[in-house]
Amino acid sequence: MTGLDESRKQVAALRHGTVVDHLNQGMALKALEVLGFPTKGAALLGIGLESRKMGRKDILKLENVEITPADIDKLAVFGPQATVSFIRDYKVVRKVQVKLPDEIRGILKCINPNCISNHERIETRFKVERAKPLDVRCDYCERRIREDEFVLL
Ligand code: ZN
Repeated sequence: MTGLDESRKQVAALRHGTVVDHLNQGMALKALEVLGFPTKGAALLGIGLESRKMGRKDILKLENVEITPADIDKLAVFGPQATVSFIRDYKVVRKVQVKLPDEIRGILKCINPNCISNHERIETRFKVERAKPLDVRCDYCERRIREDEFVLL
């Protein structure tokens, strides 16, 4: 039964790496995409896990990767309540709460096909209108976009 125990341990705990917990349900894969699929080890995705705080949540675990503060800022789009834990030797050495910015630059695409940001080479910009559920407004065309409509650039 050793093999089974080993694989369970691998899914449950990271030796070294980053754990992003409390992502919104269904967002783990998009978060991984925005982080650029870091490839220093395994990436473990938990989708739709039960959570007392959120009902359902996603978790993303990245083996042997320490994500940067800039990456942490990007993750707020996929879970304003998300926490980022840095793991060394199975222990949490640092835990950070993501912070939703007032404005989101890049990352998202405007869903309005007529929006100038879809026709010219300009950086997309959205104002955060509401945190829960996340709702943003395009700076250029004023289109409101709910989190279930988010399209990545
Ligand atoms: Zn727009």
